[in-house]
Amino acid sequence: MKRYLVKPGAKVNLSEFDPADTGEFKGGKEAALAEFEKLNKKLETLQELLFAERKRKVLIVLQAMDTGGKDGVIRRVFDGVNPAGVRVASFKAPTAEELEHDYLWRIHKQAPGKGEMVIFNRSHYEDVLIVRVHNLVPPEVWKKRFDQINDFERMLAENGATILKFYLHIDKDEQKERLQARLDDPTKRWKFRLGDLDERKLWDEYMKAYEDVLSKTSAEHAPWYIVPANRKWYRDLVISSILVETLEDLKMKYPESEENLNGVVIE
Ligand code: ATP
Ligand code: MG
Repeated sequence: MKRYLVKPGAKVNLSEFDPADTGEFKGGKEAALAEFEKLNKKLETLQELLFAERKRKVLIVLQAMDTGGKDGVIRRVFDGVNPAGVRVASFKAPTAEELEHDYLWRIHKQAPGKGEMVIFNRSHYEDVLIVRVHNLVPPEVWKKRFDQINDFERMLAENGATILKFYLHIDKDEQKERLQARLDDPTKRWKFRLGDLDERKLWDEYMKAYEDVLSKTSAEHAPWYIVPANRKWYRDLVISSILVETLEDLKMKYPESEENLNGVVIE
């Protein structure tokens, strides 16, 4: 799965990444689902360890074009984890109060505490994506943000956060199908926004903005992964694998009791 890692400093050209890639699982959805189930069980245990240990913080950033599958990942990959230790923070267009502050203000408030795993559904990266594409601030303002974001994430990492960032990579045809499905299915219509069609017209500009994000902000302590996301089962498998591997590398341990329990007898 390391092949989806953006090496720090590498220049990303998204047209070189196949959104329909299914790695070793060519046509093997069944095998992939079986593997996914195993990873899901491991994630449950690892998250419990994180919670019990109460030392580290885990931040997972999800970014994608509309219909890219952020909600699906949250539902499926984190299925079974203990909700007491996991939180989702969704970032929409900023409120009036949020606009009064710097763009990282609302983000920092949602950063994980000790033992906590937080999933960002959209993030501070919107401030160099939609904000750039729609000229919501002048270029001299958003251009400075890559360095600011790198500094911010380094500060979080130096204070105990493990950061993983996933860009869910779908292509324009796949988005068309998914938007059409939302339109056709009465149980999905609530997710459809006419505004999504305006964003779709700006697809190429968004790809350029994403390429800059991926090229400028992947770091050792806060890596980006480009996840092939046309096939939902493969997308989930890739994210689960990377997450489990990263959490295993933390070598977490259940803490000892703070009291001396030797010789305790329960009557
Ligand atoms: P889905 O993908 O399921 O439609 P969503 O994340 O798109 O969910 P919406 O409520 O449809 O949720 O959209 C949220 C909108 O808020 C997005 O268009 C996003 O680009 C926008 N947004 C997020 N952060 C910012 C920001 N800092 N400045 C301006 N717009 C933002
Ligand atoms: Mg939307």
